[in-house]
Amino acid sequence: MSVLTLPPGATLGMLGGGQLGRMTALAAARLGYRTHVYTPEPDSPCAEVSAAATVADFADAAALAAFAASVDVVTLEWENVPPETVAALERMVPVRPGAAVLAVTRDRIREKSFVNGLGIATAPWRPAHSAADVAVAIAELGRPAVLKVARLGYDGKGQVRLGAESAPESAWHELAGGHALDAVVEGFIDFACEISVIVARAADGTLRSYPAVENQHEHHILSRTIVPARIAPEVAAEAELIACRITEALAVVGLLAVEMFVTRDGRVLVNELAPRPHNSGHWTMDACATSQFEQLVRAVCGLPLGATGRLCDAVMDNLIGGDVERWPELVAAPNARLHLYGKRQVRPGRKMGHVTWIAATPDSEPAR
Ligand code: AMP
Repeated sequence: MSVLTLPPGATLGMLGGGQLGRMTALAAARLGYRTHVYTPEPDSPCAEVSAAATVADFADAAALAAFAASVDVVTLEWENVPPETVAALERMVPVRPGAAVLAVTRDRIREKSFVNGLGIATAPWRPAHSAADVAVAIAELGRPAVLKVARLGYDGKGQVRLGAESAPESAWHELAGGHALDAVVEGFIDFACEISVIVARAADGTLRSYPAVENQHEHHILSRTIVPARIAPEVAAEAELIACRITEALAVVGLLAVEMFVTRDGRVLVNELAPRPHNSGHWTMDACATSQFEQLVRAVCGLPLGATGRLCDAVMDNLIGGDVERWPELVAAPNARLHLYGKRQVRPGRKMGHVTWIAATPDSEPAR
């Protein structure tokens, strides 16, 4: 038995109130758990489906103490929760994954150093703290390259492409705007495809990996996930092994999503880690016995992990901004499973929902 087993009826604390929290809360409820969400945002897709909600700043010590007293374990749907918040909570209640994991995954410099330290490849990269560092990095790595903020970047935000003409000074100014900043410069990878693997790890060390899936982005935002990834079986096996090794080395209790590039010569390079449910795992709700969200609940509550095999091929399409207007057509399609996040305001680039297309024939794309 694992260190901590919380029976159904226990309360899961969720840091962050977006759609990932919402889908976790729905999975928790299905297993008889309550969710108490803590979010600074008054309009929370997660709060709508949770038993309790605290709307307060992450620095509010009194609100954090009251929250900790009302939950049995805490998990998160947003890895950029301030480290002080996680540290304060950890003194009062188990937080899974905890501060040690988040310290690595919230900072690209630490994350890439950690991955490379395991002997696992990433795109070639250099840390950068000034325009001069960028110039040196470009000289060493060549062009094109990508300049990325070390912390708090997402969906392509906080990135500047360094093309043939880009001056290091102006790229740095665009990113840092005159402030002190930690960043990385990465060699640009002309990849064959982008993939990801989500791994669950229980408190007793048991690991379960979901199959490697293929991710297509538009304007840096995930647009489509294709299951399984259209890569050679040995490449998929290597990607799953890499993801498991990182999860184990970080001693994650919960989920770790590992985003990777597959190069044209079949090498697998780690791009980014996320210690939480991941958009590229939404298909598991409709094409696996255990969804990534249920798996997170199982891992943090000390239940045995569920099966991760894919029951059928699937394609997941994000509904971004105005795409959500397609809901009448999607809800009527027999092989579409529609998920809407209940967000009242449609904004360009905002993730409003997703649709998973299932029931494919074995050797074709899923019927659309
Ligand atoms: P990231 O925020 O690091 O996940 O980057 C967002 C997206 O930008 C990735 O999913 C890729 O499509 C693209 N990208 C990021 N880094 C690189 C790179 N070194 N080479 C090529 N494309 C990249």
